[in-house]
Amino acid sequence: MHILLVFIDGFGLGEADGEINPLVRFCPTFFHSLLQQPLTKACGRIISDEVCLVPTDATLGVSGLPQSATGQTALFTGINAAKKLGHHVQAFPGPQLAKIIAEQGILMQLQQQGYGVTSANAYSPDYFELVAKRRRRHSVTTLTILGAGLFLRSFAELKKGQAVYQDITNDMLSACHIPVISARQAGINLAKIVKKHDLTMYEYFQTDRIGHKQNWLKAEQIVQDLNDLLCGFWQEAHGDCMMVLTSDHGNFEDLSVKTHTLNDVPILIVGQDCQKIAVQITDLTSVTPAILSVMQEGDERND
Ligand SMILES: [Zn+2]
Repeated sequence: MHILLVFIDGFGLGEADGEINPLVRFCPTFFHSLLQQPLTKACGRIISDEVCLVPTDATLGVSGLPQSATGQTALFTGINAAKKLGHHVQAFPGPQLAKIIAEQGILMQLQQQGYGVTSANAYSPDYFELVAKRRRRHSVTTLTILGAGLFLRSFAELKKGQAVYQDITNDMLSACHIPVISARQAGINLAKIVKKHDLTMYEYFQTDRIGHKQNWLKAEQIVQDLNDLLCGFWQEAHGDCMMVLTSDHGNFEDLSVKTHTLNDVPILIVGQDCQKIAVQITDLTSVTPAILSVMQEGDERND
């Protein structure tokens, strides 16, 4: 089984109201064709053979608005990091969260069990320089990759179509002589990586950035890029892969506020066996154990 775990930062299930929700105003075809309606809280819980949607509480039982570092740690380790620390932690993880990720990260756990895992994201040449100079800190996703001892894809891979940049199209990389590609092509490139591994992660965080800025112009571009990425991926991968799309907290789905939201996040699972993951989801901490159990079950079936 080949699983793509798509992590979209700040991407909740909002109101079915195009005045505040760009996923309603611009109505991407990928979600519409799966759900026969825009991806909003009105969809409710959907369990079927081909597609499952589980609206999931992102607050982790801790008061206050959910935040990235604790939400992502919960997603990618199965540990309720917010509860452990007693509060939500913004943006980048500190030493306590880093320890949890090092000990329980999904990629590390799968790799120890002999699975082929990777991240499709490309990192810029100056990324590590900035980290070394303490001008930048690793995100939860990057720590999850490094914790498994995996290499980070570079611009060399990106130029060959063997990685996907965090903005999908390489539009932000014009100064680096990286050709801009269509979002659909990025999705095809992503599918080719996914087919070579048991589990591939891809992180997209422009949703959270633009949600904080309440920028409708950029929101339209984001909806288009995400849609084309997912359409390209699914067309190339269909029949062979499962996709698990999720987020750490709401934000982008309500451009009337510049903060995160208390909305549920979607755990959208597409492809054969999607129900096996969906029925195990209760909150953000369920994603890692559900993926682990379905992969192990798949192996036993094939023995
Ligand atoms: Zn944010």
